[in-house]
Amino acid sequence: MWPNKFDYQRAESVDQALELIGDEGKFLAGGHSLLPVMKLRLSAPEQLVDIGRIDSLRGISANGGLTIGATATHAEIAASGDVQSMCGALADACGGVGDQAVRNFGTIGGNIAHADPASDPPTVLVACGASINIQGADGSRSVDAEAFFVDLFETDLDDGELITSVSLPNCSDCQCAYVKFPHPASRYAIVGVAVCLKMDGGTCAQADVAVGGATVKAVKCAGAEAALAGSTLDDAALNAAAEAVKADIADWLAGDVAYPESYRQQMAGVYLKRAVKAAAG
Ligand SMILES: Cc1cc2nc3c(=O)[nH]c(=O)nc-3n(C[C@H](O)[C@H](O)[C@H](O)COP(=O)(O)OP(=O)(O)OC[C@H]3O[C@@H](n4cnc5c(N)ncnc54)[C@H](O)[C@@H]3O)c2cc1C
Repeated sequence: MWPNKFDYQRAESVDQALELIGDEGKFLAGGHSLLPVMKLRLSAPEQLVDIGRIDSLRGISANGGLTIGATATHAEIAASGDVQSMCGALADACGGVGDQAVRNFGTIGGNIAHADPASDPPTVLVACGASINIQGADGSRSVDAEAFFVDLFETDLDDGELITSVSLPNCSDCQCAYVKFPHPASRYAIVGVAVCLKMDGGTCAQADVAVGGATVKAVKCAGAEAALAGSTLDDAALNAAAEAVKADIADWLAGDVAYPESYRQQMAGVYLKRAVKAAAG
């Protein structure tokens, strides 16, 4: 199907993008989610404002923590040495997005603004305590990733607001991993689990865990974190965490005919164990 008619304008700066967007406009980044939904006529913006050539939205910088520009592509993030050393789980997640073409065009800003429940990066951003930096007509603000993702395809973004970058703490003193059960066709996550472990010798001093894919949004999992913290990550702790994670996500489950909620909930426990082993190993 063809999309409804729309106007197209390319912005040269963030200020210009915010001026152009209007009430019925949408920002265009990589176009890998927006254009399909426009073709299906699930979205019919009157105006597209292309942000792909705004220099200040590009790039990845490391200065204590990581700052990733909104239009950094998944391929750039996966290949970045700074991301690999400061948050390997995000490099893993972005390296596993879709196929090479999707990774070359899809951007982190577009990915998190779209808030598809099966997306990979949001799960890592929630586990690792990222913040989303946003600019609107009234100024800029920063929101914790956990608060940014509100529900199915729903975020804290107001109409006309632009994500400018994502900030992450330096997790290089932690052992982090992201593992997913990918859909066999699209590679979207049926279940994705991110863990970030702070180890003190053989004991887990602190665990941060988030689950996506199985849920309508990326969910931080306090029960699983409590089961892992203070343990030596032995089988008893992993089994307890796998049970706890199922309870953590119970109120947020997503599913479909092929992979129903109860199946995904079960698989979240399996993938939690895999993620912990990948991080610890
Ligand atoms: C075949 C296929 C397979 C895929 N597989 C995966 C997968 O396995 N895992 C995964 O995580 N993702 C997957 N994706 C999605 C992909 O990761 C893209 O990141 C995603 O499509 C959105 O990024 P984009 O830059 O293309 O955004 P666009 O499509 O340009 O925009 C998406 C939405 O975000 C808004 N937007 C864009 N940038 C901003 C901004 N800076 N501020 C505010 N709003 C903004 C747009 O207005 C629009 O509403 C897949 C996509 C396809 C087509």
